[in-house]
Amino acid sequence: MKIVVLKFGGTSVGSIERIKKISKIILNYVKKKYKVIVVSSAMSGVTNDLLQKTKKISKNFSTSEYDVLVSSGEQISCALIAGSLNELGYKARSWLGWQIPILTNGEYSQSRIFKIKTKEIMKYLKTGGIPIITGFQGINLENRVTTLGRGGSDASAIMCAKFFKAEKCIIFTDVDGVYTTDPKILKKAKKIKVISYEEMLEMASLGSKVMQPASIQDARLNRMDIDVKSSFIKKGGTLITKRKNILSSKVIRGISFTKSDAKITLIGVKDKPGVAASIFEPLSKNSINVDMVVQNISANGKETDLTFTIKSEDLNKTQNLIKKNKKIKFRNLIIDKNVSKLSIIGVGMITTPGVTYRMFQALANKKINILVISTSEIKISVLVNKKNLKQAVAVLHTEFKLER
Ligand code: ASP
Ligand code: MG
Repeated sequence: MKIVVLKFGGTSVGSIERIKKISKIILNYVKKKYKVIVVSSAMSGVTNDLLQKTKKISKNFSTSEYDVLVSSGEQISCALIAGSLNELGYKARSWLGWQIPILTNGEYSQSRIFKIKTKEIMKYLKTGGIPIITGFQGINLENRVTTLGRGGSDASAIMCAKFFKAEKCIIFTDVDGVYTTDPKILKKAKKIKVISYEEMLEMASLGSKVMQPASIQDARLNRMDIDVKSSFIKKGGTLITKRKNILSSKVIRGISFTKSDAKITLIGVKDKPGVAASIFEPLSKNSINVDMVVQNISANGKETDLTFTIKSEDLNKTQNLIKKNKKIKFRNLIIDKNVSKLSIIGVGMITTPGVTYRMFQALANKKINILVISTSEIKISVLVNKKNLKQAVAVLHTEFKLER
């Protein structure tokens, strides 16, 4: 059996008209003799609306009820898609997570799929039916509804492709693939034809919003090729695959950035064991994600400065937590609200010397000041003033020949 998993994102099923449109896309694969498994997200905006409702009830809305509520958007879109295919004369039905079942573990609102039972769906496929599976949701071992984190229907699709041994997994979205950088910031951004899991994971985690980062990790662990395509226009998309399959000699594959970060510097903290832990403990307990961290070497062996970045929206909370923290002493607190993290990503940098230098020199040529630097095996990130972001992206895009 030749199985294909087709996943549709919120905007692809965002209206009745769109649902009719993607029904045609589904039928194209049926006509090509594929057994099609559809995974759908909620119609765009629906999940957000549901989430807002919980906030009006309580600041501490029960996490298990949160999952029951926010997963309901997918029930609506899947029923509509099934109905639309029925109307066109095809056998199709919706399948909710618990009906399959899709089994998850971990916490509510951020569960992970560990198994999908295939028996019922396989039986249904053999009868010629098109199953329309709700993305984003599953059940846990207590038989309660769970969800997979925002954007989690990507993970649903990838895990379906794995458990049903699909030949292909296609993610239909509102852009026609993954770009070298955000085309809204840089017009000459180019579509990337092939990208490795590792690079895609960095791109997604560092600010490119095309796919949920956790889902790419699932694809990588399972060696599952993913095609990202537009459901709006017919055009080749981006293939996410293993490094081995990529021939291109590009050193840098893409540039990602965050738009609103804040930088916090504690001046004159004690230079002794445990201080950094004491600073970050309350932040971690309050789910504040600390990103880049740098600590200076202390000049006198007694005091040092510590800088870190967070999302701008966490700034007030973070400031309060630091001021309330009795375990730490510092002379001064400096805040910069207008910073962006800019990252160049590419597995090619592992084997190519001089990439760091080229990046820094290109920025220096435009007099763009670098505030903080951090690197990993396949990425280099710098923090810059937000006002320099656009120019910095353009300069690096040219330096690493991404438009070619
Ligand atoms: N509907 C869910 C969300 O908005 C899941 C998804 O779109 O993938 O986060
Ligand atoms: Mg989505």
